[in-house]
Amino acid sequence: SVCAPLPVLGRDVLVPLVTGGEVDYAALDYAASAPALQRVWDDVAAYAPYYGSVHRGAGYLSQLSTDLFENSRRTIAEFLGCRDEDQVVFTRSTTDSLNLLAAVLPQNTRVFVFETEHHASLLPWEQRPDTAVTYLNAPRTPQQAVDTLEKALAGREPYGPALVCVTGASNVTGELWPVRELAAAAHAHGARIVLDAAQLAPHHPVDIAELDVDWVAFSGHKLYAPFGAGVLAGRADWLQAAEPYLAGGGASRKVSRRTDGGVDVEWHTTAARHEAGSPNVIGAYAIASACQALTEAGFDGLVAREQELIARVREGLAEVPEVKVLSLFGDDAPRVGVLSFVVEGWNSSHFAAALSAEYGIGVRDGLFCAHPLVRTLLGSEPQEPGECGAPEAAPGERSLNAIRVSFGAGTPDEHVERFVRAVK
Ligand code: PMP
Repeated sequence: SVCAPLPVLGRDVLVPLVTGGEVDYAALDYAASAPALQRVWDDVAAYAPYYGSVHRGAGYLSQLSTDLFENSRRTIAEFLGCRDEDQVVFTRSTTDSLNLLAAVLPQNTRVFVFETEHHASLLPWEQRPDTAVTYLNAPRTPQQAVDTLEKALAGREPYGPALVCVTGASNVTGELWPVRELAAAAHAHGARIVLDAAQLAPHHPVDIAELDVDWVAFSGHKLYAPFGAGVLAGRADWLQAAEPYLAGGGASRKVSRRTDGGVDVEWHTTAARHEAGSPNVIGAYAIASACQALTEAGFDGLVAREQELIARVREGLAEVPEVKVLSLFGDDAPRVGVLSFVVEGWNSSHFAAALSAEYGIGVRDGLFCAHPLVRTLLGSEPQEPGECGAPEAAPGERSLNAIRVSFGAGTPDEHVERFVRAVK
């Protein structure tokens, strides 16, 4: 049925409550890491006893692993609707994927990024000393986002490489960004665009050709696969024109000593160029298995189910006058199953801790690795720089951080109902 949740792992964890007794754990922090699908776990468990080194052995297990690794790459390329000129590079995560892209940018690329991005898509670009980054102010409507980008791109010198980096769905508000329109604006001004799909891919089909973006980055652990692998997929030209992200075996095709005593290297021109070292075959296979499971389940049903859950959370929270839901584009803006809020009179960290200790509900508190965005939404002054965690407000003070609830495939009604009850 349309509403049938996919079976996920981790449902049978019982957590003790401070009020006494135990309750099954309600994982409502999918935006941080989604529980693995049962199907993914089964696939990985069936293969795990047989793994061998990828591209590095004549033996049966090594060949099996090489096939599995390369087939996983093809499955993911299909899942993303990759074009002929695209390559799928395996990385450790979205953060790693975007840092890889930053490392391969042509010299003196101008980068345009909204201040509202997750730090993973906000920060890698300035790591390149030759890169000039333009930070765009937070838009208040999707159209304003497009207009802001248009204006910034129109104002740049009309030569040299340029890159726009944009998130598909916010990890703070869950709001969907106008990716297609931003891609059209980027291309109209001769810029390329990378989509941070960490939050979009688990909730919506991401078709690289249809969205007309140049690259897509996402993480396995948010897409119902376990930790350890991510993907950067997209145009091969910049990837192949650059030095390898990591130097070492696997990336090099031919290495020879020169007569002057040095070393000459011919690097691969496939995705392997940026995948030096023994690859994470289990991580790659887990992502491919999750892609297959999501495709078979069908995004139409997943989206319908999720919208139903979002509506229940919204209705429930609307009955609590102290709750303020955070949004850039307005309360009715389309969003994925990610929602952040503050509760008047409550310190957000204490609130989140109470949800855990008294109701067995796991949510996230803090600034969600998107400090500028959360501060804009809360209207608060910059605090001491911290990690992704949160600066504290004393009880009764205005919140300096927020609470995030997020869900997806496999979230049962009871978890969302318990959450609404607990907030009330
Ligand atoms: N971008 C967005 C929108 C995210 O939500 C996250 C994870 N919170 C990341 C990038 C980074 O993902 P990872 O930690 O897997 O590298």
